Amino acid sequence: MTDAKLIIALIAHDKKKQEMIQLVNKHINILQECSLIATATTGNLIKKETNLTPHCYLSGPLGGDQQIGACIASQEVTAVVFLRDPLTAQPHEPDVSALLRICDVHNVPLATNLTSADILMEWVSKQVDFQIVKNQ
Ligand code: PGA
Repeated sequence: MTDAKLIIALIAHDKKKQEMIQLVNKHINILQECSLIATATTGNLIKKETNLTPHCYLSGPLGGDQQIGACIASQEVTAVVFLRDPLTAQPHEPDVSALLRICDVHNVPLATNLTSADILMEWVSKQVDFQIVKNQ
Protein backbone atom coordinates (compact mmCIF):
# COMPACT_ATOMS: atom_id res chain seq x y z
CA MET A 1 0.00 0.00 0.00
CA THR A 2 1.29 3.46 -0.81
CA ASP A 3 0.43 6.52 1.23
CA ALA A 4 -0.60 8.40 -1.89
CA LYS A 5 -3.62 6.24 -2.55
CA LEU A 6 -7.04 6.33 -0.99
CA ILE A 7 -7.63 3.28 1.17
CA ILE A 8 -10.96 1.52 0.87
CA ALA A 9 -12.03 -1.28 3.22
CA LEU A 10 -14.23 -4.03 1.76
CA ILE A 11 -16.06 -6.50 3.99
CA ALA A 12 -19.06 -8.70 3.28
CA HIS A 13 -20.93 -11.24 5.35
CA ASP A 14 -21.23 -14.64 3.72
CA LYS A 15 -24.66 -14.13 2.14
CA LYS A 16 -23.51 -10.77 0.75
CA LYS A 17 -20.25 -11.88 -0.81
CA GLN A 18 -21.66 -12.23 -4.31
CA GLU A 19 -23.10 -8.73 -4.03
CA MET A 20 -19.61 -7.55 -3.09
CA ILE A 21 -18.17 -9.14 -6.23
CA GLN A 22 -20.87 -7.43 -8.31
CA LEU A 23 -20.06 -4.12 -6.64
CA VAL A 24 -16.32 -4.50 -7.16
CA ASN A 25 -16.75 -5.39 -10.83
CA LYS A 26 -19.13 -2.48 -11.37
CA HIS A 27 -16.68 0.01 -9.86
CA ILE A 28 -13.45 -1.69 -10.82
CA ASN A 29 -12.10 1.37 -12.64
CA ILE A 30 -12.35 3.39 -9.43
CA LEU A 31 -11.19 0.66 -7.09
CA GLN A 32 -8.09 -0.15 -9.09
CA GLU A 33 -6.92 3.40 -8.38
CA CYS A 34 -7.22 2.77 -4.63
CA SER A 35 -5.46 0.62 -2.10
CA LEU A 36 -7.87 -2.00 -0.84
CA ILE A 37 -8.03 -3.77 2.49
CA ALA A 38 -10.44 -6.56 3.36
CA THR A 39 -11.27 -9.31 5.78
CA ALA A 40 -9.75 -12.63 4.70
CA THR A 41 -12.65 -14.45 3.09
CA THR A 42 -14.02 -11.38 1.37
CA GLY A 43 -10.57 -10.32 0.18
CA ASN A 44 -9.57 -13.72 -1.11
CA LEU A 45 -12.82 -13.99 -3.05
CA ILE A 46 -12.16 -10.56 -4.59
CA LYS A 47 -8.68 -11.76 -5.58
CA LYS A 48 -10.16 -14.91 -7.14
CA GLU A 49 -13.04 -13.25 -8.99
CA THR A 50 -11.41 -9.98 -10.09
CA ASN A 51 -7.96 -8.68 -10.99
CA LEU A 52 -7.74 -6.68 -7.76
CA THR A 53 -5.45 -7.67 -4.90
CA PRO A 54 -6.70 -6.33 -1.58
CA HIS A 55 -4.50 -6.62 1.47
CA CYS A 56 -6.24 -9.28 3.55
CA TYR A 57 -6.54 -9.18 7.32
CA LEU A 58 -7.91 -12.06 9.38
CA SER A 59 -11.37 -13.38 8.70
CA GLY A 60 -14.05 -11.24 10.35
CA PRO A 61 -15.07 -13.77 13.00
CA LEU A 62 -11.39 -14.33 13.88
CA GLY A 63 -10.62 -10.68 14.51
CA GLY A 64 -10.45 -9.17 11.02
CA ASP A 65 -13.19 -6.64 11.75
CA GLN A 66 -11.19 -5.50 14.76
CA GLN A 67 -8.01 -5.22 12.69
CA ILE A 68 -9.80 -3.06 10.12
CA GLY A 69 -11.34 -1.10 12.99
CA ALA A 70 -7.81 -0.39 14.21
CA CYS A 71 -6.88 0.92 10.75
CA ILE A 72 -9.92 3.21 10.85
CA ALA A 73 -8.98 4.42 14.34
CA SER A 74 -5.49 5.15 13.03
CA GLN A 75 -7.13 7.37 10.38
CA GLU A 76 -5.73 5.25 7.58
CA VAL A 77 -9.03 4.41 5.90
CA THR A 78 -10.85 6.68 3.45
CA ALA A 79 -14.12 4.76 3.19
CA VAL A 80 -15.66 1.47 4.25
CA VAL A 81 -18.06 -0.83 2.41
CA PHE A 82 -19.43 -3.41 4.81
CA LEU A 83 -22.19 -5.41 3.17
CA ARG A 84 -23.91 -6.77 6.25
CA ASP A 85 -26.42 -9.59 6.32
CA PRO A 86 -29.26 -8.16 8.39
CA LEU A 87 -31.17 -11.45 8.47
CA THR A 88 -28.56 -13.77 9.98
CA ALA A 89 -27.18 -13.67 13.51
CA GLN A 90 -23.41 -13.26 13.50
CA PRO A 91 -21.26 -14.83 16.23
CA HIS A 92 -18.98 -11.80 16.07
CA GLU A 93 -21.74 -9.19 16.28
CA PRO A 94 -19.85 -7.18 18.93
CA ASP A 95 -16.94 -6.82 16.49
CA VAL A 96 -19.32 -5.74 13.72
CA SER A 97 -20.90 -3.12 15.98
CA ALA A 98 -17.48 -1.90 17.05
CA LEU A 99 -16.40 -1.44 13.44
CA LEU A 100 -19.53 0.58 12.62
CA ARG A 101 -19.05 2.64 15.76
CA ILE A 102 -15.42 3.46 15.03
CA CYS A 103 -16.45 4.72 11.57
CA ASP A 104 -18.82 7.15 13.30
CA VAL A 105 -16.20 8.13 15.87
CA HIS A 106 -13.77 9.10 13.10
CA ASN A 107 -16.38 10.35 10.62
CA VAL A 108 -15.35 7.78 8.01
CA PRO A 109 -17.96 7.21 5.28
CA LEU A 110 -19.54 3.79 5.57
CA ALA A 111 -21.94 1.91 3.29
CA THR A 112 -23.70 -1.18 4.55
CA ASN A 113 -25.84 -2.08 1.54
CA LEU A 114 -25.46 -2.10 -2.24
CA THR A 115 -27.32 1.13 -2.92
CA SER A 116 -25.40 3.14 -0.38
CA ALA A 117 -22.20 1.49 -1.63
CA ASP A 118 -22.94 2.67 -5.18
CA ILE A 119 -23.40 6.20 -3.87
CA LEU A 120 -20.21 5.95 -1.82
CA MET A 121 -18.29 4.77 -4.89
CA GLU A 122 -19.36 7.96 -6.71
CA TRP A 123 -17.85 9.96 -3.88
CA VAL A 124 -14.69 7.86 -3.92
CA SER A 125 -14.47 8.46 -7.67
CA LYS A 126 -14.48 12.20 -7.06
CA GLN A 127 -11.78 11.83 -4.42
CA VAL A 128 -9.69 9.86 -6.91
CA ASP A 129 -10.29 12.49 -9.61
CA PHE A 130 -9.25 15.34 -7.38
CA GLN A 131 -6.42 13.29 -5.87
CA ILE A 132 -7.48 14.33 -2.43
CA VAL A 133 -5.72 12.23 0.14
CA LYS A 134 -7.13 12.19 3.62
CA ASN A 135 -4.91 13.68 6.30
CA GLN A 136 -2.36 15.13 3.94
P1 PGA B 1 -14.85 -12.56 6.10
O1 PGA B 1 -15.34 -11.65 7.28
O2 PGA B 1 -14.60 -11.71 4.92
O3 PGA B 1 -13.60 -13.23 6.59
O4 PGA B 1 -15.97 -13.56 5.86
C1 PGA B 1 -16.45 -10.83 7.12
C2 PGA B 1 -17.17 -10.66 8.43
O5 PGA B 1 -18.03 -11.49 8.72
O6 PGA B 1 -16.89 -9.72 9.17
